[in-house]
Amino acid sequence: MAMRDLLKKYFGYDSFRPLQEEIVNHCVSGQDALVLMPTGGGKSLCYQLPALKFDGITIVISPLIALMKDQVDALTANGIPAAYLNSTLPYPEVARIEAQAKQGKLKLLYLAPERLANPSTRQFLTTLKISLFAVDEAHCISEWGHDFRPDYRNLDLLRTQFPGIPMLALTATANPRVRDDIVSHLRLGRGRVFQSSFNRANLAYRVVPKKKAFEGLLAEIRRRPDEAVIIYCFSRNATEKVADDLKANGINAAAYHAGLSPKDRARVQEKFIRDEVPVIAATIAFGMGIDKPDVRLVVHMDLPKSVEGYYQETGRAGRDGLPSECLFFYSAGDRIKHEYFIRGMDDLDERQRVRVQLQEMMRYAELKTCRRAFLLRYFGETGVPETCGSCDVCVPRAVEAKAEPVQDFDQDLFEELRLLRRNLAATRHVPPYMIVGDKTLQEMARQFPQSREHLIGITGIGREKLAQYGGAFVDAIRAYAVPKGIPERLAATTVRARPVKAISSSTRETVRMFEAKRSLESIARERKLSVVTVLNHLEEALDNGRSLDASHLSAPDDDRLERMREAFREAGTYMLAPAKAKLGDAYSYDELRLGRFLLKARPQ
Ligand code: ADP
Ligand code: ZN
Repeated sequence: MAMRDLLKKYFGYDSFRPLQEEIVNHCVSGQDALVLMPTGGGKSLCYQLPALKFDGITIVISPLIALMKDQVDALTANGIPAAYLNSTLPYPEVARIEAQAKQGKLKLLYLAPERLANPSTRQFLTTLKISLFAVDEAHCISEWGHDFRPDYRNLDLLRTQFPGIPMLALTATANPRVRDDIVSHLRLGRGRVFQSSFNRANLAYRVVPKKKAFEGLLAEIRRRPDEAVIIYCFSRNATEKVADDLKANGINAAAYHAGLSPKDRARVQEKFIRDEVPVIAATIAFGMGIDKPDVRLVVHMDLPKSVEGYYQETGRAGRDGLPSECLFFYSAGDRIKHEYFIRGMDDLDERQRVRVQLQEMMRYAELKTCRRAFLLRYFGETGVPETCGSCDVCVPRAVEAKAEPVQDFDQDLFEELRLLRRNLAATRHVPPYMIVGDKTLQEMARQFPQSREHLIGITGIGREKLAQYGGAFVDAIRAYAVPKGIPERLAATTVRARPVKAISSSTRETVRMFEAKRSLESIARERKLSVVTVLNHLEEALDNGRSLDASHLSAPDDDRLERMREAFREAGTYMLAPAKAKLGDAYSYDELRLGRFLLKARPQ
């Protein structure tokens, strides 16, 4: 089965995120690689999809027990046989999983790194037909990273004992020193490095003066009823105070910090993941073991200690790709809080380093130029646009203003579907986001699918999700739409402005080949991509304001192109399905896709 079909069947997605397709193809060809992608970039899919294609099993090394369980639950929910082995499992369970693996019944097996130190685990691995080792959170191998785990050094044993098996290492760390460490420890010397832009295009960055900060915070939270929010504070006391003040104002909030008992911490985390307490005031310890994709707002009440830390913490917003905000209440005076700790440091070099990091963070806060551009350049990206159109410097506005955002979906239906999702999740004992994501619910609330045939066309609905929840969602949508006389709609009826983002190196490569007058097919062949992806790259370049000369392509005749232009215009969107519905079978999707590109390339 083609990769794209596997993508839809198991994960419910219609297209790849940037670099995913290249990485998946590279991986299937049996070669090593290092993948550097920001949080939310879609790293998991880079080994989960190849795992489905391989005959043998894919072994995934993952450091956090909670995340391991999450991933396995999510895979199982998509109908993919997977399991994990770690210290929390009783022996009979371990034996059962090992037997399944030996019988070839599992596609993916997650392992905690400390298990590799055990010769019996390595002996067990020799009895399997292993197709791939995937090393998640690969920065844990480096002492230069923020999360060094000595157990990761055991991976060296895998390389020695299983030299012929390809390895895919993945991380969201952009630090070059850490990257070199990963390559050398895992001996990835001959593998490729795939690095995507660290731009989080769906995140809006905002810094506001720390005056009446609590009122500002409250207003922001009230604008987002029931949405997940993380508020980072400098001290334990501050987290308690913010949470208490929010509760006094009727907000369902809780505090999280290292002073709580492990049991209490686990409970707060669990409630947050299950959408039972949506607002958490926390120290930076919160968030490490959490993959919650629908956090809509991350707030910094105090000065973060470094740009790296700030990027990582804000990165916990909007992993699902939907618009989310990062709000920072800044006061230069907060520097004093850090000074107290800095003066306590014995190592003078270390003191100096920490001061420089703090200085950089303050520079960010006081910028008069685009904040996104600063962040991307800080992490060494080049070719970064001067303005982003979605930070407070590029688009100034007051905190208490933002005019509600324009929504192109039915908010009431969305709320109903969210409630249904919560109920489905509760009976199955999984977090709601594991049923389906917000993006899927929003698309339902836009298209009103009233049959299973239509529902399968929605993003995030694969074969298994359709079988499990299709009936429930269709019933709920019908119950809402039929009395109101709302018909099914094919797709979005508004053209959404795309956020400006840095073009990836892969897109640049496609553009370069296209400008050398190569045909789409020959670019696709050489780059091992589909023609659709090549076109996506080219459209991405056009959408980012680049002009392309497409005169060397063999185009549909002018008449047909004109009809397509009309159809897109009438549909009010460049999405293919509505135009196709207007044009009928005389126009294939392939032709429409090419037509769309040509129309964008020479607009009138
Ligand atoms: P990372 O590990 O890089 O932080 P994940 O693998 O957790 O990112 O993916 C982030 C989110 O994006 C998940 O909710 C995932 O299901 C979703 N996702 C991944 N790939 C795609 C895709 N091709 N289309 C739509 N959503 C995707
Ligand atoms: Zn900007």
